[in-house]
Amino acid sequence: MTHVALVGAGPGDPELLTLKAFRLIQEADILLYDSLADARIVRMASRHCEKIDVGKRCGKHSASQQQICELLVAAAKTGARVVRLKGGDPMIFGRATEEMAALDAVNIDYDIVPGITAATAAAASLQKSLTKRATARSLHFLTGHGAEGGLPAHDWVSLTKSGGTLVVYMGAKTLAGLAAHFIEAGMDPATPAIAVENASLPTQRNFPATIATLPRILATTTTTGPVLLLIGEAMDETEIAERQLEEASTSFL
Ligand code: SAH
Repeated sequence: MTHVALVGAGPGDPELLTLKAFRLIQEADILLYDSLADARIVRMASRHCEKIDVGKRCGKHSASQQQICELLVAAAKTGARVVRLKGGDPMIFGRATEEMAALDAVNIDYDIVPGITAATAAAASLQKSLTKRATARSLHFLTGHGAEGGLPAHDWVSLTKSGGTLVVYMGAKTLAGLAAHFIEAGMDPATPAIAVENASLPTQRNFPATIATLPRILATTTTTGPVLLLIGEAMDETEIAERQLEEASTSFL
């Protein structure tokens, strides 16, 4: 019985998989996975399962999106149970649209299984809420890498004015331009900005800085894992101290 699912693998820590993702991976006959899907998660598939690495890391494309769609459709047409495993959540910068369209075009049904996205994994590990009642009333997920290759043309002024927390996926390479655009649009150069590499994994590294200083810090560091950027007042280092104070005062009420 054909069953196709686009499954979120979460940020890396296998314990952050959903139970549904775990079950579907174990039941899969064919597993198509990204480079961002942790090896320990891929190993959860059964021995008979055909595991196909369609990994894409910026610059090093091992399969084009078109080829991935073709592989997915071909796998689904065999009648096997197919899992397309994607890092984080499939619906957040995961190219799910193209893969759903390819399946729709040949009338193959599929399910989408959400996953924990890099933003919430990073926030949890930093112990920083992405929203904050007084100073971070909105949350924006941006890409730092447009379809044309470079930095996309975001509305820098509106984003800056929003005062919300800005989370940038795929932004490590374009950070210098990104920071310059934000500062030019009126963002305070002292606005807290943190880069998080390998969120949720034992190899996680955090680079707390400001929007003005983060580009230099990242430019002089070698990162090998995926990097997420979090920008805004909610990322302030004093946050933790404030939160602890609040907790202490409410416990006396
Ligand atoms: N669908 C994924 C995002 C894919 S885009 C999700 O929901 O998380 C790829 C980008 O995601 C990377 O360039 C990086 O910015 C971010 N990313 C994914 N996993 C990450 C991790 N464990 N730590 C830090 N950033 C990560």
